[in-house]
Amino acid sequence: MIESMQHKLQIIPIPAFKDNYIWLLHNGTKAVIVDPGDAAPVIATLNQLSLSLSAILVTHHHHDHIGGVSTLLKHYSNAAIYAPRYENYNFKHHPVSEPNTVSLPEFGLDFSVIDLPGHTLGHIAYYSPDILFCGDTLFGAGCGRLFEGTPEQMFNSLKKLADLPPTTKVYCTHEYTLHNINFALFLEPNNTDLLQRKYDTEKLRHASEPSLPSTLILELATNPFLRCTNPEILLSLQLGNIPPLEVFKTIREMRNHY
Ligand SMILES: [Zn+2]
Repeated sequence: MIESMQHKLQIIPIPAFKDNYIWLLHNGTKAVIVDPGDAAPVIATLNQLSLSLSAILVTHHHHDHIGGVSTLLKHYSNAAIYAPRYENYNFKHHPVSEPNTVSLPEFGLDFSVIDLPGHTLGHIAYYSPDILFCGDTLFGAGCGRLFEGTPEQMFNSLKKLADLPPTTKVYCTHEYTLHNINFALFLEPNNTDLLQRKYDTEKLRHASEPSLPSTLILELATNPFLRCTNPEILLSLQLGNIPPLEVFKTIREMRNHY
């Protein structure tokens, strides 16, 4: 029963603003929306696909992730909203954090909530086997900026994600992949997986296709923020044999100015 329900599940990106993706998960009749920064493209897509909105999952409080929530609630007043327990929201919601689970029986899915302080202090991800909605924590070949948390918090948050099964599909919320890959190549010019990813990503972007979702196995092979023990990265930094957290701090700071 659950298997047949999962077979019908689809996850599609709704582009918003300059480079955001609002992820829409649906089973043909009902939908879940992740981080709706803008209501208009979400409503248009729901109407186009004749879907009703069951739930909204919020990963963190930034406006480009929640700006559409109030308007969506006016249209779909029965939608359940889940948002980080350790952040403040002015809409009615279920506050969630570890070790909570968000159960969506209509979709045959249970999402584990993962606490990921770093980009914001209350940032969370939603994980169900092979599906990761990670907000602004992990990006294609990159990671989110440290607006509220410390480098150590972000480093540990990324480690939690790196420990998920490698087959996990990574649904990031920004199309930053190509820029991140160019930065990563600056650190690891001889990484053949990274060179291949650049080729594949350029092809996708040239065809105006999203570079996402990614997979954890691809991130582990190409994302410098998950590769802080990599010898070539250490060599590029020319800082000697510094600990992984120092590598992370250094490359996060470099990426801010890249
Ligand atoms: Zn953000």
